[in-house]
Amino acid sequence: MTVPGALLVTGGGRGIGAATARLAAERGYVVAVNYAKDATAAERVVADIRDNCGAAIAVQADVSVEADVMRLFATVEREFGTLHALVNNAGITGGFGRVSELSADVVERVFAVNVIGAFLCAREAVRRMSTLAGGEGGAIVNVSSRAARLGGPGEWVHYASSKGALDSLTVGLAREVAGEGIRVNGVAAGLIDTDLHAEAGKPTRARDLASGIPLRRAGTASEVAEAILWLLSPAASYVTGATTAVAGGR
Ligand code: NAP
Repeated sequence: MTVPGALLVTGGGRGIGAATARLAAERGYVVAVNYAKDATAAERVVADIRDNCGAAIAVQADVSVEADVMRLFATVEREFGTLHALVNNAGITGGFGRVSELSADVVERVFAVNVIGAFLCAREAVRRMSTLAGGEGGAIVNVSSRAARLGGPGEWVHYASSKGALDSLTVGLAREVAGEGIRVNGVAAGLIDTDLHAEAGKPTRARDLASGIPLRRAGTASEVAEAILWLLSPAASYVTGATTAVAGGR
């Protein structure tokens, strides 16, 4: 399965999530745009989709909070019926800092959003999509980072480690539910020009590091969205458990 149907994008109000929500709507999905705090950005994505004759809703929920995730999925189900696709995109970096300087609070928060949030959303999606539970199957894409392989030394080993855990979720869950009509894949984004770098404390980071990328530039959110939409689509019907780098050769 995975003809366009209902898609939930976590963190869909800004950056890669917003580009994914917009592109998915163009490809025929009805889209639930989840956000944590920035209602204005999420409502703008929804308005743009509706202006283009698509269907979308914005739903506030902190993916690290189980009760919020339960409410999020219940809302999507009530508004759109059967869920066909999930993009686990919501993520934070926790800012920059060497391991020797990190507080437990920062590490816990990064893992709560990037790892526990993805687990909770994947769990709720599988409960609804699994053919063993009477579902129609579906597809999940986890938005990971090249940092998982590079390690993020001197910048954010805590963030890189959370994405390493996400990559293990992709492989393990893909094999666990392969016989239940669900494909699970990931994209490992490289240096992408979004708000993430400014929020971490380095607004010019994407520009500063561009010359070190083999393709000599930062990527765009739309370029990552294209890979996500391909992994969700029937064109990727034999792809599961894979994490595809979208990183300009980095
Ligand atoms: P962004 O522009 O900072 O957007 C992050 C999104 O995540 C926002 O929509 C935000 O919601 C949402 N979010 C944060 N915490 C959340 C929570 N607890 N619950 C629900 N939503 C939450 O970042 P981005 O660059 O697009 O990043 C998207 C994903 O790509 C992240 O997983 C990130 O790790 C990954 N990635 C990014 C890069 C890069 O270079 N940009 C590279 C590799 C991987 P609000 O709008 O409400 O704040």
